[in-house]
Amino acid sequence: MHIKTNDIVQVIAGDDKGVKGKVLSIDRDAGKVVVEGVNRVYKHVKRSQKNPQGGRLSKEMPVRLSNVLLFCNKCNKATRTGARAAKDGSKERFCRKCGNSLGQISPAPKAS
Ligand SMILES: [Zn+2]
Repeated sequence: MHIKTNDIVQVIAGDDKGVKGKVLSIDRDAGKVVVEGVNRVYKHVKRSQKNPQGGRLSKEMPVRLSNVLLFCNKCNKATRTGARAAKDGSKERFCRKCGNSLGQISPAPKAS
């Protein structure tokens, strides 16, 4: 799974199935990812100097990496991705359905 921060992913399982959002952070060791608007919980906070209004704060909780897939703009759905080498030697991800490039994984090696 090649998911990076700021990727657009779609949830494919669980309570938020079908929800699309931006990846906010990734915990590779735990195999979890925080996605904007997904698995949101509300925390009730008391009035304080930092929060003069008090009230509710929403916060996204991590979901399992295996429950999200990268979203392909061309297919307009979440798809499985592969990795391939581009002409310049860099590595990129691609959509296994349509072949659309989904961004670089590693840069091209420097020409010597
Ligand atoms: Zn595609």
